Amino acid sequence: MAYDDNNIFAKILRGEAPCFKVYEDEKTFAFMDVMPQVDMHTLVIPKFPAENLFDLSPEYAAAMATTVQTVARAVKNASDKPGVMIAQLNGSEAGQTVFHIHTHIIPREGGIDLKFHARDLADFKLLEAQAEKIIQNL
Ligand code: 5GP
Repeated sequence: MAYDDNNIFAKILRGEAPCFKVYEDEKTFAFMDVMPQVDMHTLVIPKFPAENLFDLSPEYAAAMATTVQTVARAVKNASDKPGVMIAQLNGSEAGQTVFHIHTHIIPREGGIDLKFHARDLADFKLLEAQAEKIIQNL
């Protein structure tokens, strides 16, 4: 399947769709997941038109990994959770629903289950406050 320039994350990168941004550099961008599976569920995307890991250049794959490390540390500190799950889905059969490659950063603690994937829209005031807290921990 060819990369679709009109996917929602491409629109976010072009500033055509809103998001709660937590981090940006030359090659990557990070923002709050609008249908989070837990509080502070954050996404990292490369500024590169790739659907999945197999289409991504090694240079941008490395940049995404570096930003995931940076933002995951901030999410861990901001959420004060003992664990952080990093997930990256390739293809609809793997559960991918947005076809611009992205990495999920999901803080975890024992006994707290994940909510359904990409189902319930979060309260925007809450997302804004969480983004601010993550930014303070970068
Ligand atoms: P995937 O299923 O492709 O791995 O993950 C896509 C993620 O993007 C889901 O967790 C979903 O909640 C999130 N998502 C879908 N649409 C939007 C949107 O418009 N804005 C933001 N910030 N996240 C979105």
